This record gives sequence, C-alpha cells and structure tokens, in this order.
Amino acid sequence: MVVIRTLIPLLKGLAFTIKHLFVKPITYQYPEQRREVSERWRGLHRLKMDDGRLLCVACGLCEAVCPADVITVERTETEDGRSFPSRFDVEVTRCIFCGYCQEACPKDAIELTRNYDFCEYTREEFNLNRDQLAKIEEA
Ligand code: SF4
Ligand code: SF4
Repeated sequence: MVVIRTLIPLLKGLAFTIKHLFVKPITYQYPEQRREVSERWRGLHRLKMDDGRLLCVACGLCEAVCPADVITVERTETEDGRSFPSRFDVEVTRCIFCGYCQEACPKDAIELTRNYDFCEYTREEFNLNRDQLAKIEEA
C-alpha cells in the first residue's frame, strides 16, 4: 500500500515531464532573440525628429501633465524665432509609463517606444537628456 502511495505521485511527475519533452519551448534566447511586445506597449521615451529637427516646441505640457514629475523642460528660441527645448530631461527610473506625456503633446513630439530592455549600471545613467532621448530608436 505504501509503495503504491509513493509510486503514484512519482509516475504523475514523470508523465508531466515526458509530456513537456514534446512541447515547443517558450523561452527566448535573450538577447539574441527578443520578445515581441504588443503595439500598445509603453517603453522608453523618444523625442521625434523631422528633417533633422526636434518636433518639440518646449510648450511644457508633458511636464505639467506628468503625474510622477519626472520631465524637466526648459525653453529657448532659435535664431529663426522657433521655440525649442534647451533642456529636456526624463528620469526614467521614476517614470510609471502611463503615456500621459505622449497623449498631451500637441506636436506629437514625444512617444513611448516599444523598447523594453534598457539596462544601465547606475541610477544616474537613467536620467536621459534631450540628445539621448532623440537618439532612442523606434523599437
Ligand atoms: S509616461 Fe507618464 S510618468 Fe512617464 S514621463 Fe510620461 S507622463 Fe511622466
Ligand atoms: S514633447 Fe510635446 S508636450 Fe512636451 S514640451 Fe515638447 S511639444 Fe510640449
């Protein structure tokens, strides 16, 4: 009786293992293989460019709407009178990826990309400035 009570769970475990020998693996060989994320995924921020120029006009709406208070925008004017961000910082480690900054922007100048694998060694390296944000690739 004791032998049967011991054998049953053992056989169940073996059957479970054998069943999974024939199932397609769902693990990814990261970073060689990257996981596909949803179209609606909200990842790292990107400042969009058009014709080599930032679309951002430093209106500050994204900064005002940000619930985590992680965006800092400072405005200046170019020689041709165009409004331009002299400073545009995002503290990525405190961002909650709500997407409000993207929604609020009247110029469609900022977006949350599908880039999800951003790794650095220090917190400071996650404080991205204007030029770094402009170089983020669309994922
Ligand atoms: S995604 Fe949300 S929390 Fe992050 S910077 Fe934009 S508004 Fe702020
Ligand atoms: S990203 Fe958009 S909302 Fe934010 S300061 Fe620039 S233009 Fe304004």
